[in-house]
Amino acid sequence: MTSNKAEEILESLWVKLEEKKIPSASFEIMGLKKDEEAVKEIVSSGFAEIRNSTLVFTDKGRKLGRDVVRRHRLAERLLEDVLDVKGRLANEKACEFEHLLHAGIDDRICTLLGHPKLCPHGHDIPPGKCCAREKKELKLISPLSSLESGQSGKIAYIHTRDSAKMQKMMAIGVVPGMKIKMLQNFPSCLFKLGNSQFAVDESMAKDIFVRIGGEEGAE
Ligand SMILES: [Zn+2]
Ligand SMILES: [Zn+2]
Repeated sequence: MTSNKAEEILESLWVKLEEKKIPSASFEIMGLKKDEEAVKEIVSSGFAEIRNSTLVFTDKGRKLGRDVVRRHRLAERLLEDVLDVKGRLANEKACEFEHLLHAGIDDRICTLLGHPKLCPHGHDIPPGKCCAREKKELKLISPLSSLESGQSGKIAYIHTRDSAKMQKMMAIGVVPGMKIKMLQNFPSCLFKLGNSQFAVDESMAKDIFVRIGGEEGAE
């Protein structure tokens, strides 16, 4: 059983070495001391080695670091989109949550959320096995493009790094929290938003994520 502190070190090490591609993780950069309990733990458990006063991943440690990052970012999505917990509280809770989402549970949460690709801060969520075999399963959050005619819910989030697209969506009122109802999803996606109807193409409909169901729908 790996301690929470050790998991957090591996998480931070993964972000630095694998995501931000910094060349080496000295104890100074990591904000750690060589003789800390958690450092000894990750070394004795074979997750990392100390070379020239820097921490270096083993394969096993790299995999666990990635998993913890994945769990943290999924926890953030879960807290923000489903439980509506935001800001500093969300970050604190995500840090606690990541240790609870062990083996297999992270993939279930991921499925429930519609296999999100980005956390609320725009960082990539490392994909799991579940993301490859996406099929029709129970989902709480789904892209607008896969809603059936008549299905409704509220916009949970928009997944795009294209600011022109984002502005276009915001201009018609596609913002988180808005009620939305699918009217027809072929040949283009026609939906009701508030009291108006709009049509968008599939590429845009894939970027809009909807929390299905909800209190009164979009009637
Ligand atoms: Zn995040
Ligand atoms: Zn997934």
